[in-house]
Amino acid sequence: AHLDRIAEVDGRVNAFLHVDAESALAQARAVDERIAAGETLGPLAGVPIAHKDVFTTTGMPTTAGSKILEGWQPPYDATVTRRLREAGLVILGKTNLDEFAMGSSTENSAYGPTHNPWDLSRIPGGSSGGSSAAVSAYEAPLSTGTDTGGSIRQPAAVTGIVGMKPTYGGSSRYGLIAFASSLDTPGPFARNVLDAALLHEAFSGHDPLDSTSIDAPVPQVVEAALHADVAGMRVGVVKEFGGEGYQPGVLARFNEAVELLESLGAKVVEVSCPTFTYALPAYYLIAPSECSSNLARFDAMRYGLRVGDDGTRSAEEVMALTRAAGFGPEVKRRIMLGTYALSSGYYDAYYGQAQKVRTLIMRDFEAAFQQVDVLVSPTTPTTAFPIGERADDPMAMYLADLCTIPTNLAGNAAISVPCGLADEDGLPVGLQVMAPVLADDRCYRVGAAVE
Ligand code: GLN
Repeated sequence: AHLDRIAEVDGRVNAFLHVDAESALAQARAVDERIAAGETLGPLAGVPIAHKDVFTTTGMPTTAGSKILEGWQPPYDATVTRRLREAGLVILGKTNLDEFAMGSSTENSAYGPTHNPWDLSRIPGGSSGGSSAAVSAYEAPLSTGTDTGGSIRQPAAVTGIVGMKPTYGGSSRYGLIAFASSLDTPGPFARNVLDAALLHEAFSGHDPLDSTSIDAPVPQVVEAALHADVAGMRVGVVKEFGGEGYQPGVLARFNEAVELLESLGAKVVEVSCPTFTYALPAYYLIAPSECSSNLARFDAMRYGLRVGDDGTRSAEEVMALTRAAGFGPEVKRRIMLGTYALSSGYYDAYYGQAQKVRTLIMRDFEAAFQQVDVLVSPTTPTTAFPIGERADDPMAMYLADLCTIPTNLAGNAAISVPCGLADEDGLPVGLQVMAPVLADDRCYRVGAAVE
């Protein structure tokens, strides 16, 4: 049924970069055989899933949305991929994304933009916009994403679905093509909170192949999603996220969600986190710095594209030609920014300062979580914007992640759950619920109460 739905709508949505119907049906039959052979599989066995094309997959190409990886066939599965397979999930195909997960609209993909199923002239969010659109358009019940600065929560919010960024280190980065290694976090998309929790549980947990993976039990997320009880919980509304620059319809739905939590017995207070207003500039130094280092591996020798290798040019010339042809404008902008911020003489002024701001943001979270169990805010300042509107204005594009970025810098958990439609445009609005490190279950508990 999902393959039929993909055939019907994906020409207009462009959520998928690669669909393999034959492989999907073979995977489904293999699950049947495992069950027939007496194997006990988890609750998601046989459920189809769309997989962000930034996780390596054997038997399917992996492009990270970039021309530089066109035609690359990974020789191994990412840990997230392997765990999906072990749990019996059926991978329908790979979903579109901003090149190397850099963007908030999926317009930076080398393979064309993805369209928001609610209004095809609008963006589905990014960078995991193919994954959010696939679930929102009923092409798949579940999908995977990665969240470096908001790339799960923001697309979930603007397509009216649930998206969760687990605690950093709670889900494995092994086989996830790196953007900013100290921030990248795999997480689930689903149409409801319980489904997201089941997927979260299926692929999370300690992985010895990822040196930053946390060796602790996975938080009880499914249990929390099933017991949507917020009575007595202390909920903090982040004072800095609201007011000027926020769409009135977004704030109206957010305020109603807060009132709903209060009516369910939560104690709501306002909490000030003054350093959160510096999160965006700090992120746009730290993330490009890490990307400039991570993307050095695309040297025309090891993977995918190779340009100008005609026997007359040096390896260095081939590398330069390949990177010039293979990377898109946003990726180049970030490599230049990051290289500059890390260069001697500028390191202390830019990268060093940004890391200090990062510490202050962590302290603001710590202080806030002394007072409250969770923090809430709108997930995004506006609903889905028109395709093209911010494409030539990186600063306007970066604002889409204003509310999501502090969580990435601090490494804690946050979810986006739908909380209604904005009056102005009838488009979905997301409520963001942020919880302390390894308290991912609180996001699901509050999220389930609101949905
Ligand atoms: N939009 C942010 C960026 O462009 C976040 C991306 C992400 O989370 N992968 O960097």
